[in-house]
Amino acid sequence: MYQYKYCPVCATELVRRTPSNEDKVRLVCPKCGFVWYNNPVPACGVLIADKEGNVLLGKRKFPPKAGDWTLPAGFMESGEGPDECAIRETLEETGLKVKLNRLFNVYKAGDDPRARVVLIIYLAGIISGEPKAGDDVSELEYFPIDALPSNIAFSSHSKALSEYAAEYHSECVS
Ligand SMILES: [Zn+2]
Repeated sequence: MYQYKYCPVCATELVRRTPSNEDKVRLVCPKCGFVWYNNPVPACGVLIADKEGNVLLGKRKFPPKAGDWTLPAGFMESGEGPDECAIRETLEETGLKVKLNRLFNVYKAGDDPRARVVLIIYLAGIISGEPKAGDDVSELEYFPIDALPSNIAFSSHSKALSEYAAEYHSECVS
């Protein structure tokens, strides 16, 4: 996990200290009082299934986890809402314009080396476009929900996919 060494406000070296109103040790700037809370970063993405129930995954082009598969997703930009982020990331990575049908679930992710992540996944449908890998995705493919690749990049994406599989099967039965 990335750690700040210097204060992002005044460039003084940070120290480990418990701020006076807290009980946790944090990285604190001894000069200007900046506290690095290391808050989780929101990421948003989509589950898109075709008529046969196959799920669209993208292969990561860059580290971390280059070559592994994920749902179309990415980090939320400043000033962006989660729905806007999911739609933008999907367009960038897949070339598809999507409509978000509903919130699927929200996940805690601890295995991304860049940040602690809160992953927000929507069920989405394609409005227009043909799948074309873009941005940090090298390849796109629809996979049967019961025959997913073994190398799913992040635990939060694996969890979303297994919950989706469970939901898919319960709907087939009912
Ligand atoms: Zn400072």
